[in-house]
Amino acid sequence: MQQHTDQYIDGAWRPSLAEARIEVLNPATEELVATVPAGGAADVDAAVAAARAAARSWGRTTREERLVPLGRLCDGLAARRQEIAETVVAELGSPIRFATAVQATLPLTVARSYLDILAKYEFEEQVANSTVYAEPAGVVAAVTPWNYPLHQIVAKVVPALAAGCTVVLKPAEYTPLVARLFAELVHDAGFPPGVFNLVTGVGTEAGAALVEHPDVDLVSFTGSTAVGRAIGAAAGRGVKRVALELGGKSANVVLPGADLARAVKANVANVLANSGQTCTAWTRLLVHRDQYEEAVAIAAEAAATYLPGDPALAATRLGPVASASQRERVRAYITGAVAQGARLVAGGAQAPEGLDRGYYVRATVLADVTAEMTVAQEEVFGPVLSILAYRDEEHALEIANGTDYGLAGGVWAADNETAAAFARRMDTGQVDINGGRFNPAAPFGGYKSSGVGRELGRHGLAEFLQTKSLQF
Ligand code: NAD
Repeated sequence: MQQHTDQYIDGAWRPSLAEARIEVLNPATEELVATVPAGGAADVDAAVAAARAAARSWGRTTREERLVPLGRLCDGLAARRQEIAETVVAELGSPIRFATAVQATLPLTVARSYLDILAKYEFEEQVANSTVYAEPAGVVAAVTPWNYPLHQIVAKVVPALAAGCTVVLKPAEYTPLVARLFAELVHDAGFPPGVFNLVTGVGTEAGAALVEHPDVDLVSFTGSTAVGRAIGAAAGRGVKRVALELGGKSANVVLPGADLARAVKANVANVLANSGQTCTAWTRLLVHRDQYEEAVAIAAEAAATYLPGDPALAATRLGPVASASQRERVRAYITGAVAQGARLVAGGAQAPEGLDRGYYVRATVLADVTAEMTVAQEEVFGPVLSILAYRDEEHALEIANGTDYGLAGGVWAADNETAAAFARRMDTGQVDINGGRFNPAAPFGGYKSSGVGRELGRHGLAEFLQTKSLQF
């Protein structure tokens, strides 16, 4: 068991000024993996002061000067990929194959994409008699969740550093270890002291102190919509820029003429990946009523092949959820859905057989779900798929757009044109057409209560810049 007592501030690991500790539990075994400091306002003050002190000189570096440590950071992410994957297995419970292929590899892909974007980005533009400069936004507070813990860190910190900002990161309570590993990589990459700082702590203390801090210029938050609203309000009071990447309740719409089996199986895989703890998960499968029972049977059969098990084993496709409270929450959604009239066709709320320890939930498929049911409106964040029937295309669109969220989605049709025409009418930030692959360079972010701002690619860099015009 590792007992960490330090925070990464001003280029060095320094003893935390807080006494309190966060216990990191392995969700598969419920064993204590490590403790880290539950930092408070004093740690945050020190970290923000370091970031502020470094902001002017880092903000004036050339892109070439920033590309050197950023390149070394990418090399570090590549070199320690296996260790990253194992850390995410231990603190989050992602199955090792998924952890290696996604949790450890996506951050590397995203970080490398910024080497290219930074090398080519136009920081200067001529508008008639004005020269318009894109300048760094200043000191960035990055607050991240636990479900893709390193990806969400990299998707904020790397473009912020590339833009010339300095950063204080407050990672999620459940996954501080991969955040510490990232801080080691930043250190080894040779960024100047204060450019990147890490404070581990709980959201209501370290997180709140950070987003309220008067010396922070921009808050970039990924997490739940409830906390996002509070952070947006705090940023508003402080007149700080804010980017919010929040929850989702994404619809996958299968139009008549699509390859039904392919679309349904892809949906099951999508919703069960990472135990359903994916903000973009297609948690609502929408099928025409004439094909409904066929789709339900395919989904139930596919879900039954996902047996929960030890995430450290290569054969495991479904690990535990992140915490005991998350498990109870997911189970309550399943029970509640059945009470509201949903038909359980795979899985269920009871603990999986033979797994009396660990935060496991069965791969669950709910049929006969209607648009107004709680399970069709709220984010479950567990391995639960709801299948809804629609009468015609207009009805499908009404259901798809009928939640507060708008983060992602899928559309399947006989051809891409038909699917794309439907997708253009969806109130959502990203739609995969006929199984189109995730693109880590495409702008990512939400419509409606799913957020404000865009991450990834050029748009993700622009979030950390502000503009100045000089008139001649
Ligand atoms: P959460 O909102 O509880 O916590 C996210 C982060 O905010 C954590 O670091 C937490 O410590 C911190 N925090 C909590 N309260 C705070 C406060 N009052 N002030 C400042 N910081 C505070 O979310 P979570 O449970 O960690 O993550 C799951 C949620 O994240 C889901 O809703 C999911 O959809 C969302 N998510 C969104 C995206 C996206 O890009 N849109 C990506 C992944 C996850």
